[in-house]
Amino acid sequence: MPNMQPSSVPTFHLGLIGYPLGHSLSPKIHTAALEACGLEGNYSLFLIQPDDKQGLKDLLTRVRTGEIHGLNVTIPHKQNVIEFLDELTPTAKAIGAVNTIYSHNNKLIGDNTDAPGFLCDLRKFLAESPSPVLGEGLGVRARLVLVLGAGGSARAVVYALVNAGWEVTVAARRIEQAQQLASHFEEVKSVELNLQTFQRSNLQLLINTTPIGMTPHTDQSPLPEKMTLPKDTLIYDLVYNPRETKLVRDARSQGISATTGLGMLIEQAALSFELWTAHNPPRNILYASVVE
Ligand code: NAP
Repeated sequence: MPNMQPSSVPTFHLGLIGYPLGHSLSPKIHTAALEACGLEGNYSLFLIQPDDKQGLKDLLTRVRTGEIHGLNVTIPHKQNVIEFLDELTPTAKAIGAVNTIYSHNNKLIGDNTDAPGFLCDLRKFLAESPSPVLGEGLGVRARLVLVLGAGGSARAVVYALVNAGWEVTVAARRIEQAQQLASHFEEVKSVELNLQTFQRSNLQLLINTTPIGMTPHTDQSPLPEKMTLPKDTLIYDLVYNPRETKLVRDARSQGISATTGLGMLIEQAALSFELWTAHNPPRNILYASVVE
């Protein structure tokens, strides 16, 4: 919460650290959140080069002094910021990455809202899907999920899935990256991402955490061309730009339920916003801010 005199109106100075940041939707989402909650404030983009440790340190000092009230963190700094923080929440510690920073009791805290944001949106997607065996707590059959990619977002996704009771296999083109991620969790399997990955998999949920299909490469999909999946497979693509990725479009044309990661983006933003301001912003207004 911002430092303020008893009678003053708080002004929340928020922002995002990353590089590059050209296409970030976060300013629109957080500006809409401030307005919807009747709060004064702004959300700035802080471009910090990948190797600029001093730049990171200086910016975080501004959070420590109360000049900035909250920061999001994105590529390539989600791990780089950790050495400048005083404490990590248990979620950030378990994932090994931070996407939200704030000051509490004169301590700089690093949190991660990607995992709960993803899980919240996944639950909405599952609840709306026509495949009731996958409903939370229904456990009619094993809940098998294949996660494509083993980078930063995969760590948050796998953490969330394991905690929600899914049986997780991680597939990466560099098997050692998948093995490294899996080694942080009990009973997570790792495989190499190739054509056989899909032929051998028996899964209910497929999650893409690679950037394949992201603008400008909108004609690409992580799935092999003309591959058919069982009709009751569900697909969650973390990529949210374009609004409908090729993976999602191809799945829907086969009658398979699929969604992009826009809902996760909104949820993680809303959770960060709540940590900074103690206000829970209305999701429909946040969606409207990014949907033309
Ligand atoms: P990252 O840390 O760079 O990880 C990307 C992963 O995908 C790595 O395992 C990488 O393997 C793999 N990969 C990249 N290109 C590939 C290819 N052509 N074929 C096979 N594997 C490939 O990135 P990230 O932070 O996890 O983000 C990944 C995507 O998720 C981005 O599109 C991002 O916008 C999206 N995302 C969405 C949300 C949301 O809120 N919806 C949140 C976070 C991220 P190598 O290391 O071998 O390249």
